[in-house]
Amino acid sequence: MRLHDTARGAVLPFVPRGESASIYVCGITPYDAAHLGHAFTYHVFDVLTRRLIDSGVRVRSVRNVTDVDDDMLRVARERGADYRAIGDDQVQRFDRDMAEIGLLPVSAAPRAGAHVPEMVQWIERLVEGGFAYDVDGWVYFEVQRFPAYGGLSHLDRDTMIRLSRERGADPGDVRKRDALDFVLWQPSLPDEPRWQSPWSDGRPGWHIECSVLATRELGTPVDIHGGGDDLIYPHHESEIAQAEAAGPTPYVRHWTHVAMVRHQGEKMSKSLGNLVFVRELLEHVPGTTIRLLLAAHHYRESWTYDAEEVSAADDRRRRYEEALRAPAALDAGEAGDLLRQFRERLDDDLDTPGALRVLDLAAAAALRSGHGGGVEPAEMLGPMLGLLGARPAAAPVAS
Ligand SMILES: [Zn+2]
Repeated sequence: MRLHDTARGAVLPFVPRGESASIYVCGITPYDAAHLGHAFTYHVFDVLTRRLIDSGVRVRSVRNVTDVDDDMLRVARERGADYRAIGDDQVQRFDRDMAEIGLLPVSAAPRAGAHVPEMVQWIERLVEGGFAYDVDGWVYFEVQRFPAYGGLSHLDRDTMIRLSRERGADPGDVRKRDALDFVLWQPSLPDEPRWQSPWSDGRPGWHIECSVLATRELGTPVDIHGGGDDLIYPHHESEIAQAEAAGPTPYVRHWTHVAMVRHQGEKMSKSLGNLVFVRELLEHVPGTTIRLLLAAHHYRESWTYDAEEVSAADDRRRRYEEALRAPAALDAGEAGDLLRQFRERLDDDLDTPGALRVLDLAAAAALRSGHGGGVEPAEMLGPMLGLLGARPAAAPVAS
């Protein structure tokens, strides 16, 4: 398997250590429904997981839930509701949506709010090690103390400052020694949840949760860590700094990032109000169609949502279902060849568009075949569709 690594900036072999691999993907902040951008990211890691399992690797996968953060608490305040109740409800909806589009369940889905005392211990280690400092109940990571800062994103300082401002930090905070220092701990406002710490009754910053949850669930190094490419900076850059300052290096062996889905000329995002919800799509098409729509795009290329593409994906699903039911029997050599080509496409930096082209050929072969061969269409198409998480629910698929 060859896979792009963000830190090294190239497509490189991903070699599991022994027979297992650990995957950590940053999860949702559960205050709103899952949109197509979420679905694209989690689809990509699901295909990666399926192909690793298919090649004989045991995969342990973790996706956290950011249930304590600024957005979550703002929404709880606006709705006059408890942040935990909002989180419970949205996590249930998210799990249902992801199951309906055929995502494998993850091995663990830890919630940040359940692990704050561990985060406090980590921050204490960072303060003791001289990597962090406290001011007025706040604790900051001191970026100057970690010379490798920037080694993932390769951004210049001005771009880092701009992006950190756009993505929820405050580079102008006068308590900081440097504009790029990031919050590890902050005092809670009167109506916010609070945990005890040596610095204040407060709550953790955003980045610390993923380092703590990833290492507690998976140990180090984490084999593959990823998420949307808007998380490269500052989130993942900061995760590396605090994890490697407080623990062993490297924190992560391979960084994989998924491009953004766009709609109406902009990245799909809550703040821009241009979301296409998975649930809305599921009212019109089955989950399999959504997976085929997502698989038609390479994970490193940003793309724009287009309703006509949903129709095209749905036509594709029907064609595949027809091929699965075809009374044909394929030549074993041809079927084996197509299946090998299909796996090769996935092993080439998860080339799912290329894999779909092989699937199209396989479906066409099934639809035109006679009865001479020994392989039933489902024996060839079933594994291919399975690797994409796109098995039609009611189709006769060989196991
Ligand atoms: Zn994260």
